[in-house]
Amino acid sequence: MVKLAEWRGKEVFRKYGIPLPRGHVARSANEVESLVRSGEVPLPCVVKAQVLAGGRGKGGAVKFANSPEEARSAASAILGLSFKDETVKEVLVEEKLPIAKEFYLSVALDRALRLPILIASAQGGVEIESVDDAQIVRQPIDPFPGLTGYQKRRTAEVLGLSGDPARALDRLLDGLWRVFTAEDAELVEINPLAVVRDALVALDAKVVIEDDAAFRHPEYAEIRDDRTPLEEIAREKEIAFVQLDGNIGVIANGAGLTMATLDVLKEFGGSPGVFLDLGGTDDPKKVTEAFLLMAQARPKAVFLNIFGGVTRCDTVANGLVAAMQQVPPSDRFPIVARIRGNNEKEGIDILRAAGVTSNPSLKESAQSAVALAKEAS
Ligand code: ADP
Ligand code: MG
Repeated sequence: MVKLAEWRGKEVFRKYGIPLPRGHVARSANEVESLVRSGEVPLPCVVKAQVLAGGRGKGGAVKFANSPEEARSAASAILGLSFKDETVKEVLVEEKLPIAKEFYLSVALDRALRLPILIASAQGGVEIESVDDAQIVRQPIDPFPGLTGYQKRRTAEVLGLSGDPARALDRLLDGLWRVFTAEDAELVEINPLAVVRDALVALDAKVVIEDDAAFRHPEYAEIRDDRTPLEEIAREKEIAFVQLDGNIGVIANGAGLTMATLDVLKEFGGSPGVFLDLGGTDDPKKVTEAFLLMAQARPKAVFLNIFGGVTRCDTVANGLVAAMQQVPPSDRFPIVARIRGNNEKEGIDILRAAGVTSNPSLKESAQSAVALAKEAS
């Protein structure tokens, strides 16, 4: 999933003719000040943290300014801030527009309906999850004809627009739909869409590109905003590796078993910190590489839960033992193993020789991983 930061989302919007405030991305307070001083961004202006999390407005990550000096100090206050676990490295400075009303508008992929849907609400500017369901109108879109005239008129009605603003909405919805389809998005959200005098302007932009279409969009390949440095290395090595907040490392194979393992750890009061899906590899070197990557995430304990199929138990055991020898003693962590399936016995013997015992019980293994992580914390 490629989530675009607001300023990147807005660049995409611009390409499709969606009206935007005048603005510019910046990476230092100096840069912000000179963008405002030169008039490239008009005053009054707003300085917005470019993080992927929402709720910036309420969380102090959107600040208004009336002079180049104020813009500068707003940028200094925001840059470097840690906002919901993301460090702010970029800000968007844009003109502050006089808002008459704020709406919510998005096209999303509804996986249950297996269709894109257009979501609109006259209650914009707050997270859609907190809007009363009765205030939200969802219209499934048949992807072949696309958005119909009727659906666009219905949306104008929902938002209470007529005349020029309704005509502006018609064009904007066409643009939104084109962003969704042409960019292979799974979500395109404008919240808020603001009424400014007789015009409609997208004050925020959230664009999420569908992963499976990444090959059609090399332009997004370089966007790494939402990956941790370790996840980035993993991606280059084609290792399925995800970092979470907890302290237990999980190594499993197959998405199903991996997710189930995370759930079981949670069930017993543990908190998974990083997980690795070995998938169907039969190369012990790949296992070693993956394990070393996990070691760098500094888990307090690791739960190895393998069901040997294509990935044989002895392959995993060999890869793991080779990796363990490369981790310096000071960085080592306890390993709980549960390996079953193809070449189970060979795998268990290899692990035992390295001092790791495999327990066939999922429950006991999970509980012991949780206990070991607690002890080490
Ligand atoms: P978030 O969704 O993370 O809270 P937004 O971009 O939606 O961030 O901004 C939060 C609020 O700040 C908006 O609902 C709007 O009221 C105000 N805002 C954002 N950009 C502008 C702008 N260019 N001009 C005026 N107000 C703005
Ligand atoms: Mg918003």
